[in-house]
Amino acid sequence: MKLYEPITLAMPLAKWIGDFIRENGRLPSGEEVREAMKEFGLEESCLDRGLAVYRSRFLIALVFARNENLIIDVISSSGELSDALEVIAYHDKKIEAFVVEILPTNDLEYEGNIGIEPIILDEKSLEPESSPVLGHFEEDNGGMFLVIDGETYERWREGEDVTTCPICGGELAWRGEKAYCLDCGYGVKVVRK
Ligand SMILES: [Zn+2]
Repeated sequence: MKLYEPITLAMPLAKWIGDFIRENGRLPSGEEVREAMKEFGLEESCLDRGLAVYRSRFLIALVFARNENLIIDVISSSGELSDALEVIAYHDKKIEAFVVEILPTNDLEYEGNIGIEPIILDEKSLEPESSPVLGHFEEDNGGMFLVIDGETYERWREGEDVTTCPICGGELAWRGEKAYCLDCGYGVKVVRK
């Protein structure tokens, strides 16, 4: 997995948290997030009560884990905040669901959801109540692509317009199983299992 800009960590991380909740019926603990961050290729550089700092060559991630919520801030290691993102996971008792969402810290520019929709899982059945478009990033000779599976694509197509870029909200142009976004420069690729 390639980690360049904050989005390249935030999307697979949000997906991992959603998958974890579906399997376990709860938010991951600080310790479980620690293991995941290492698997994503980040190095732990500080650990203090309730806060952990991770870094890779291009990114820094701050993890705040508490009982009822998990906040992970991802910023470029250059210190620039314009593309910084926050992944938030919480148990929303009002709507009786677990929610995982990705918020731009610079929210003046982007009004939609990163990943089209937040992850929403019923607190009891753990069934998905939304159609998030999340995956991991892979680089090929056509550029950097968000790789999504067939199931994610089908749910996206049923619920929402597949010409909206899940990364920036721009317009996607599809060519077969690949789409290109002229606004953010990333692509989307469907890889069926
Ligand atoms: Zn885009």
